[in-house]
Amino acid sequence: MKTLPFDRQRLEEITTQYPTPFHIYDEAGIIKCVQELQAAFAWNKGYREYFAVKALPNPYILSILEQLGCGCDTASTPELMLSKAAGVSGDRIMFSSNDTPAAEYVYAAKLGAIINLDDFSHIRMLERLDRFPETVCCRYNPGHAFSMTNDIMGHLADSKFGMTKAQVLDAMATLKAKGVKRLGLHAMLVSNAMETEYYPRLARSLFELAVEIKKKTGVELSFINLSGGLGIPYYPDQEPINIRLIGELVQKEYEKTVVPAGLELSIYTELGRYITGPYGYLVTRVLHKKQIYKNYIGLDASAADLMRPAMYGSYHHISIMGKEDAAADHLYDVTGSLCENNDKFAIDRLLPEVEVGDLAVIHDTGAHGHSMGYNYNGKLRSAELLLRTDGSVKLIRRAETPLDYFATFDFSPYFDAVRREMEQMEEK
Ligand SMILES: *Cc1c(COP(=O)(O)O)cnc(C)c1O
Repeated sequence: MKTLPFDRQRLEEITTQYPTPFHIYDEAGIIKCVQELQAAFAWNKGYREYFAVKALPNPYILSILEQLGCGCDTASTPELMLSKAAGVSGDRIMFSSNDTPAAEYVYAAKLGAIINLDDFSHIRMLERLDRFPETVCCRYNPGHAFSMTNDIMGHLADSKFGMTKAQVLDAMATLKAKGVKRLGLHAMLVSNAMETEYYPRLARSLFELAVEIKKKTGVELSFINLSGGLGIPYYPDQEPINIRLIGELVQKEYEKTVVPAGLELSIYTELGRYITGPYGYLVTRVLHKKQIYKNYIGLDASAADLMRPAMYGSYHHISIMGKEDAAADHLYDVTGSLCENNDKFAIDRLLPEVEVGDLAVIHDTGAHGHSMGYNYNGKLRSAELLLRTDGSVKLIRRAETPLDYFATFDFSPYFDAVRREMEQMEEK
């Protein structure tokens, strides 16, 4: 069942200060999730979670995670900057990029980040740095050798990520010869995996490759990066994954393969969705009801606030506040206002009878939600709020204004007029 960390009355209170739409994140839920994850991998001495910044790139969230001992997984200069702003630096930053511009390696290296190479040819880009990094990771793509894929990632042999096994072996030997002291192996093979076996199977294949690397090249790896991809229950009848069991099964694989080979490997993860996904909510107000060939509910949010339903056809549960116990006996399409017919948060969804003015809460928007937002149709990005452990609410990112949307134009005579107009509107 889907639960909420607030009731209708509390949410109405919050909306008097912060108008809808906004994303709100439940700090207590995030903290508990990280602690359970860390407990599940506590058997591994060097274990560390590197939170995938792209899931929720907000420095307030990153600094909560930093306090809990997490690092950051990044893939661009701004994500590196956000990590630094949140107090994360050195080997607590993973730089798992692909198709990477040379300048981004320079900045990542300056921060001391662990560079995760997506391609063999990128070794040459590291040679151009002032100093060759001491720690490097290589991203592996097993191609047809691993089958467990879903719609978000597609089939691995079609996936643009990582190196072939032959390239990984070659890269490890080459990097070692260049004086790299700590080497690691990374792979991300699925997204939103609900299967308990995903991490254990991935771990087994990476552990076996680590042993093969040792045999064939003499290189002893220091860490295995299981990356992200653990799933969350978007549907109300789904059970969450059992992280404690997953940790135990990875440990079994470790004892079976890594220990007998005389290796000692730290385990890293780069989870995004699993850490923050279930603890974010997009809070919206019902603006319109429309009856044509179907029944429509129009919200004040759009796919610009949450792209997943339009992009992947993803299910996101919707609660109509105050009607939690009412029978869900009305069939609706729940839409945003974009001039795009795929701007629907739900299609043929059974809900209680909805009225204009109701608060509709869209669940599980804490990862790949606000961060996937965009400005199509002049839609402005919403605010982000943090529901703190003490029950108070903090604005952690204000909503965009038209001036933010216009900020990259250089056409001042016109925008000076807009600015004055906005100032007059505020005075009123
Ligand atoms: C997106 C991504 C992640 C996080 O994925 P989730 O599905 O949010 O866990 C981790 N590592 C890399 C390299 C990624 O691209």
